[in-house]
Amino acid sequence: MKSKIQVVGIPFDEKSCFMRGPALAPDEIRKCLHNGASNFTAENGIDIFEDIDLIDHGDIKVEFFEEIYPSLKKLVTSDKILFLGGDHSITFPIIQLMKEIHGEFDILHFDAHPDLYEEYLGDPYSHACPFARIMENKLCNRLVSVGIRTLNKHQKEQAKRFGVEIICMNEIKKMKKLKFKRPLYISFDMDAIDPAFAPGVSHHEAGGLTSREVINFINKIEVPVIGADIVELNPKRDNGITAALSVKLMKEFIAKMVTH
Ligand code: MN
Ligand code: MN
Repeated sequence: MKSKIQVVGIPFDEKSCFMRGPALAPDEIRKCLHNGASNFTAENGIDIFEDIDLIDHGDIKVEFFEEIYPSLKKLVTSDKILFLGGDHSITFPIIQLMKEIHGEFDILHFDAHPDLYEEYLGDPYSHACPFARIMENKLCNRLVSVGIRTLNKHQKEQAKRFGVEIICMNEIKKMKKLKFKRPLYISFDMDAIDPAFAPGVSHHEAGGLTSREVINFINKIEVPVIGADIVELNPKRDNGITAALSVKLMKEFIAKMVTH
């Protein structure tokens, strides 16, 4: 029997502090996936349509942040799942649901930013805050944030308070030594990748990861990946390159999910 993987889009960018656009990303990613430029095979040889029972729920209808959790709860099952954002605020309601369904798991978070603000511009649910909410509610066992290059004093304090393991870009060699024991959820902010490879994001933060570094690392993960999100693709700033990279990551994440 083929493994089942769910896909769901969350076209929501109301919690973006600087620029709107990520609400257009789920559509853009699906369009790019089917534009004929590439086949559907990941680097481990798995074809995400032929070899997998891929169930795309389409996009949830969401006007307000508070609607995300109940909308997801109606359709998400215990099958492994890929969420297409949306800005990074969506990861808090996603993880609330993953906690209910899966219990124990770790989070591997790729981002230029720690997203650990207590609140940002007065909003505790801003896309700059999801991991503060996740940690204060004890929704995961371990949070590892990789690719960070904007760690200010406040967020450094927050990381210490919550026990977040941060691997900044200037110490990225440590990434290779990372090992996980529990099932893993991957939260992938596209701005983790250097803007040279991923210009289609709201916050251009130079000095990031290469596409190759990320793909190699994902393919070496040795624990089950129970779910993932790809967030912060901003089609308004893209030349097609970042959408294509999102599709590439989508294929790699899905193919990874079925190997354990
Ligand atoms: Mn983020
Ligand atoms: Mn970011």
